[in-house]
Amino acid sequence: MKALHCRVCNSLHSLKDSGEPTTCDCGRVTAWYTNADNGLACITAEDHDVAHLLSINNAWINDGPDLIPTAYLDMTTQKQIPYTQEQLDSFWRELHAQGTIMPRAPEHIRVWDQSRRGCPVAILTPGQSVDAQWG
Ligand SMILES: [Zn+2]
Repeated sequence: MKALHCRVCNSLHSLKDSGEPTTCDCGRVTAWYTNADNGLACITAEDHDVAHLLSINNAWINDGPDLIPTAYLDMTTQKQIPYTQEQLDSFWRELHAQGTIMPRAPEHIRVWDQSRRGCPVAILTPGQSVDAQWG
């Protein structure tokens, strides 16, 4: 998914799959999908320095949290034992790492890969990647 971020009002809004424009809370930044199926988006602002376009790994944000277990079955006692906070934090770090293993194509999802940003949330600069352009 893609989202716009405005550095003036600090609002974050996901783009609409319909292609209808989305505007930040103060009205300075607007963005829209030109092709939602392929994640291609445009963003516009009078002052380009206040506009960010974020690219977020859909599988990571939608399905990832469901992969974090909360307890395990102790075979000796046959009871569910909750994981410690340390173990849970480790699972979350692993989920972030999994969200950065990407195929070589398409290039616009490659940006999350460990060989590039190494993060399932990337701040895109319009004009520097095929999926983010100035409108
Ligand atoms: Zn704003």
